[in-house]
Amino acid sequence: MKELYQYIEENQEQYITWLQDLCKIPSVAAQNRGMTEVANKVLDDLKQQTQADVQLVETDGFPVVFGEVKGTSDRTLSFYNHYDVQPEDPIELWDEPPFASHIVDGKLIARGSADNKGNLVARIAAVHAYQQVYGELPVNVKFIVEGEEEIGSPNLEGFADENAELIQADGCIWEFGYKNADGRQQVSLGVKGMAYVELSCKGANTDLHSANAAVVENPAWRLVWALQSLKDASNRVQIPGFYEDVLAPTAKDDQLIADLIYSEEETKEQLAIDRFVNDVTGDELKKQLIFSPTANICGIESGYTGEGAKTVLPSEAKVKLDFRLVPNQDPYKIVEQLRKYLDDHGYEDIEITPMGLEYPARTDPDDPLAQSVVSATKDVMEMEPTVMPMSPGTGPMYELCQKLGIPAVSVGVGNFASNNHAPNENINIDDFVDGIKVIAKVIEDFAER
Ligand SMILES: [Zn+2]
Repeated sequence: MKELYQYIEENQEQYITWLQDLCKIPSVAAQNRGMTEVANKVLDDLKQQTQADVQLVETDGFPVVFGEVKGTSDRTLSFYNHYDVQPEDPIELWDEPPFASHIVDGKLIARGSADNKGNLVARIAAVHAYQQVYGELPVNVKFIVEGEEEIGSPNLEGFADENAELIQADGCIWEFGYKNADGRQQVSLGVKGMAYVELSCKGANTDLHSANAAVVENPAWRLVWALQSLKDASNRVQIPGFYEDVLAPTAKDDQLIADLIYSEEETKEQLAIDRFVNDVTGDELKKQLIFSPTANICGIESGYTGEGAKTVLPSEAKVKLDFRLVPNQDPYKIVEQLRKYLDDHGYEDIEITPMGLEYPARTDPDDPLAQSVVSATKDVMEMEPTVMPMSPGTGPMYELCQKLGIPAVSVGVGNFASNNHAPNENINIDDFVDGIKVIAKVIEDFAER
């Protein structure tokens, strides 16, 4: 393996150039910019750099780039990544142009460097390096690179259903991963699910003079009352059945939680808050972050909120809510339960529009892929990684992996200050090189598990 690590180090300039070239394409799915160009570039890169059999799989949106490299065993490892990025606004807050791929003080600053092109190129480079040093791969490798992750992966489930055989694997390396502030690599074993809904409530057919409030019902009040009843002061969701499918953390999970580092004081200071929800601290705080489902108000809209006073009785009120879900909650069931709850409380008139429903997903810490990633990380970085039983964020992992019986593990080249989705998105070049080595090691190790 030392030979392979050395090859990666000696050829890092080339791999960095591959990444810089990809980051120069502003592939913003939300604005349909550069999407054809980037999909073709990823297709070409896979073909040129890894000799993969490649295809563009059409969807109802942007295509999925699929590549397969045959190995010497019948074991298969897949990589899920995405070639789209978030919009770069607000551009004036960037220190470097977002699509120039400048390297400053050992950091590549570019939109997409951490989320998610750095991870994609690290995986391509790992396969390339392995082939240069040892010839054939010991496992089959499949690349699944979608173009709609940043707009909620609307066509990924359909893609997975239609191509179940094509994407079948013994394990999948998920798209993202970070180094913590303490320098330790984070390996995460799942994602929360999501039930994202908009609730809307209508009153009169037009905004009215607010003198009418004496006799005409205000939809903003109705919505506030409905919202008020959804959660109690201790943050507990009041929808009957909401918690019935929640799996309790296992003893192993408790151990992983105890090993996690969460900088409470720094976080409070950074966010200018003086307490966490329910005043939790220590292991309880970490447990709540990772294993608690949530009900969150993303935004409320109604009436007049501009400068000065305007007396108005609004005709409509809307709220966007996200419920982050944990295994084994079912987003479709949660929406049904919400409907029933509103009906039972006299809010039959409040409409629910689902805007994104995703299942939670987890991989067992004792799964061979999880063990392989942990062991590869240790080998490359010479320290224990932090293992997150589940990431507090959400992604379409269930649809692509667990639904087909494929375990999935996240590990990648980002850092705690990578500024994903924000100005000055960046990765450390050293982390990128380490990330290539980790994937190369996983390729070797996973073949033997
Ligand atoms: Zn993202």
